[in-house]
Amino acid sequence: MTPGNTPSIVFATSELVPLATSGGLGDVSRSLPRALAALGHPVSVFLPYYQSVRRRGIEAHHVATLSVPGHGSGFRIFQAPGALAPAELFLVEHDHYFDRPGLYGGGGGEYADNLERYAFFCRTILEAIAALDLPADIVHANDWHTALLPAYLRVYFRDHSKLGASRSVFTIHNLAFQGRHAGTRLAATGLPASEFHIGGVEYYSGVNLMKAGIVYADAVTTVSPRYAQEIRTPEFGEGLDGLLRARSDALSGILNGIDADAWNPETDPHLPARYGRDAIAGKRACKEALFAELGLRVPLDTPLVGMVTRMTRQKGSDLVLEASAEILGLGVALAVLGSGDPDLEQGFRYLADWYGGRVAIRIGYDEALSHRIEGGSDLFLMPSRYEPCGLNQMYSLRYGTVPVVRATGGLDDTGRDPAADSAAANGFKFRPPFRGDLVAALGRAVGAYWNPGGWDALRRTGMGEDLSWSVSARKYVELYRRLAG
Ligand code: ADP
Repeated sequence: MTPGNTPSIVFATSELVPLATSGGLGDVSRSLPRALAALGHPVSVFLPYYQSVRRRGIEAHHVATLSVPGHGSGFRIFQAPGALAPAELFLVEHDHYFDRPGLYGGGGGEYADNLERYAFFCRTILEAIAALDLPADIVHANDWHTALLPAYLRVYFRDHSKLGASRSVFTIHNLAFQGRHAGTRLAATGLPASEFHIGGVEYYSGVNLMKAGIVYADAVTTVSPRYAQEIRTPEFGEGLDGLLRARSDALSGILNGIDADAWNPETDPHLPARYGRDAIAGKRACKEALFAELGLRVPLDTPLVGMVTRMTRQKGSDLVLEASAEILGLGVALAVLGSGDPDLEQGFRYLADWYGGRVAIRIGYDEALSHRIEGGSDLFLMPSRYEPCGLNQMYSLRYGTVPVVRATGGLDDTGRDPAADSAAANGFKFRPPFRGDLVAALGRAVGAYWNPGGWDALRRTGMGEDLSWSVSARKYVELYRRLAG
């Protein structure tokens, strides 16, 4: 191990903000490696050299040309100095696989060769570690795209002079996407037929990449402690709960952090006024500006409920539509930003048409508006059916926007309801995923809003919490040390 008990880490990811991203994985891949490197760990991040990365025009130097077993020779690795400082960023080139407009697919669905693309990426990372002699006490893989890494380490590198000592961590960001393929595609995984059995990569006669990550990694993590418990049950296990129960000793949950610089109401350039825990007045100015921007025409002291979300069943967007009459019956106004399922988008459009002036909907992805909604809302609603971690409830806590959440995954871990502990409370939670439960929790929140002293205490509790990556990074370090020790 690196001197000073600081294990070195190779972090493999298919997404990285702002170069290539489709969800939470891109945020984690930017923040966690940088936080680890800031703690003194040597960290090398690997990302495919996508078209979107080239478009950004970042400076990248060719550092190695590799032969990759099963794929051929002449593959180039680039290093992008400064792109992810203090961590190092390496880019794996394969233009046929990665010089495409989308990450995982185009308008017509997933790319048909995703298995080959990411198998190549995984195998090449290991060859690059060896060729460049990169420090790699830990190889950290994420989601199905890089799930073959722990399998390759076990199968092909067990006796390798360098990689034989590496330990692997596999993090599940969303168990719903598993990378399942027909069993006839086994050869494309790069794994030998001897690994195609129920204790290996086989899943009901097919190939399941997520399963490979869970089976072969030395440690498996997910992005909140509660979700780590939930995925051991049939309700949340997506068909892998039995395996996850069997691997219970290796499975743990570490909550994601937030980018505390980008999400800071004291400095946020997207807000029309700044504010903080001890100088909250600017929040009212944010609310006033948001009312004007969105065309809300109710009295300014009307409690404003914000939502920024993918519009999907996972996020419970349908529950909000179902409960809309009762929600509005609580005397609130609604500001919703999101996109996703066309039926749900349409439902929200109708809602705004019916309740013009009290309900404002913006369909699309708009980062600046998402900050203004956090800044200008009083309450933030997240009724997710499942939520591996969730970021917006943490942004909301920081912005003094009291979260009302379904008690699942990271929402359960980060929220504390007054019904359980009034002194420590920072928001409101409901458990059954039904509209009556949602409305009851929101009703309690609205009641609290009209009690200014209690409301202030609730907001101050959330605004005082440390939700930064440095807390989470230290938990990963503990895990790495246990493995590498
Ligand atoms: P997931 O990755 O499951 O969508 P997370 O809460 O982990 O959910 O992360 C979602 C991120 O995407 C948050 O930072 C959220 O603010 C952002 N986001 C989602 N939809 C939009 C949107 N329409 N406009 C701007 N930001 C959005």
